[in-house]
Formats: sequence, structure tokens, C-alpha cells
Amino acid sequence: MKYALVTGGSRGIGRAVSVKLAEMGYHILVNYQNNDKEAETTLQRIREKGSDGERMKFDVADEEAVSTALSDWMNIHPDEYIEVLINNAGIRKDNLMLWMPGDEWRQVLDISLNGFYNVTQPLLKNMQIKRFGRIINIVSLSGIKGMPGQVNYSAAKGGLIAATKALAQETAKKGLTVNAVAPGFIRTDMTTGLNESELKKQIPVGRFGEPEEVAELVGFLVSPAASYITGEIISINGGLYT
Ligand code: NAP
Repeated sequence: MKYALVTGGSRGIGRAVSVKLAEMGYHILVNYQNNDKEAETTLQRIREKGSDGERMKFDVADEEAVSTALSDWMNIHPDEYIEVLINNAGIRKDNLMLWMPGDEWRQVLDISLNGFYNVTQPLLKNMQIKRFGRIINIVSLSGIKGMPGQVNYSAAKGGLIAATKALAQETAKKGLTVNAVAPGFIRTDMTTGLNESELKKQIPVGRFGEPEEVAELVGFLVSPAASYITGEIISINGGLYT
């Protein structure tokens, strides 16, 4: 059995990625924070693809909770390891820096950037021992270009982009690839409050992207066809920014 952990797998991009990896034969550990019902729906979609999975509920920002959940899993599966990790859990708390309270700054960094550390660090050892691993971090156009009203989110994703490049170089000789996928506007709960008809005028392709389109790119990066790609940040944004 090959195992993949998808953080924030209950909804949106994380769900689509979970389903894609299930289609590729992975057993999926679906992480999420609160939404049991949505996580169950993801599992149902995974099973419809002929694979299976399990829920793994924890807050990626809570180092102790992550450590407990992962070591429990490892104790139950002493001969197996998580070979694919998709660091996808994320939130946005948009505000002008002028009005941004410290908790909005910290929450966003805690989930995207510290969450990356909390989940990735404990899984690295086994990936290196087995000499195969795939880590894909879901970042954002905001972390490449910087977006007004998202200083916290841009900082978190920009930090994650730099971490991707550094970790890729640390682990390449051990058979790991570490890449990032940087979406533009994708139709999920995260973007439901946005004015899509106005925003899409700025997008050369003329529409928001679908989570399944992001999942196809992630699936490619996980596949053996992408063995020579590491340390890359690949945009998927309908031409919005190149
Ligand atoms: P979404 O629909 O809002 O889903 C967010 C997912 O993250 C949910 O599964 C949620 O779990 C989980 N989550 C949130 N905080 C968590 C925490 N502390 N611990 C564990 N899980 C947590 O978001 P999305 O649009 O799919 O975004 C997924 C990723 O893509 C994010 O990193 C986001 O920044 C990035 N991204 C999205 C877009 C876009 O346009 N949508 C663009 C660029 C980048 P619950 O269901 O339990 O709440």
C-alpha cells in the first residue's frame, strides 16, 4: 500500500488532490481541522475511485497535535511510510497592514508556514530511509507577486516558496522531490466571497480555475514522470501573472 497525506483534504483543492491521488492508487490520509462531514465526502469520492483512505483530524498549526497524530499512525504502521505529502491546508485573513491585528498575522503564518514545518519534519526521516518521497506545497500567486490586503498571506506563502527551494536541495540526493504549486483564483470556499465576474476580466483565460485542474498538476508532480523536477514553483493561474 502506498500512502499519501493531504492536509486540508476535506474541501476545495485538497479534496480534488485527494481524489486524483486515489485514482493513482494511493491510500489517502485526509487531514482537516473541523469539518467531519466534508472529510467523509472526500473519503466517499476516494472510494468511488476504487481506493481507500482515512480521516486524520488535527490542526496543522498545533505542533503537539500533529506530532501525536503522526506518531500514532507510524506506531500502527511500523513497516509502512507516508511517501507523498501535500501541504495544502491554508486560510486567508485579508486586511490592510494598517488595520491588521497580531492574531490575523499569526494565524495565517501559523497554518501555512509553521504548519508546513510541523507536518513535514516528522515525515522526512522515513522518506529519506526509503529513498523516495514527494512533497508538494500549495502556495499562491500572492506569495510570488505580493498582493495588497494580504501582507500576512503573501508572507506565509513567500516563506513557503523559499522553504520549498531550500528543502529540495537538502533532500534531492535522498530521492525526494520538493515542489510548490502556485494557483491564481480557483473556485473553492476560499474564493466564494470574491467578485468573480469582475476579477475574471483580469484573467487572460477569462475564468477562475477549478480545483481539479490544480489536482492534475499535483498528480503529475507526484508521478514518476516528474522525477527530475525539484525545487520548482509552478504557477497555475490562467495567465494572470507570468
Ligand atoms: P478551502 O476550500 O477554504 O479549504 C481549506 C481546507 O484547509 C479545508 O480542508 C480546511 O479544513 C483545511 N484547514 C484550514 N485550516 C486548517 C488547519 N489549521 N489544520 C488543518 N486543516 C486546515 O481552501 P482552498 O481554496 O481549497 O485552498 C487550499 C490551499 O490552496 C490553501 O493553502 C490556499 O491558500 C491555497 N490557494 C487557494 C487559492 C484559491 O483561489 N482557492 C489560490 C491560491 C492558493 P476544514 O474543512 O476542517 O475547515
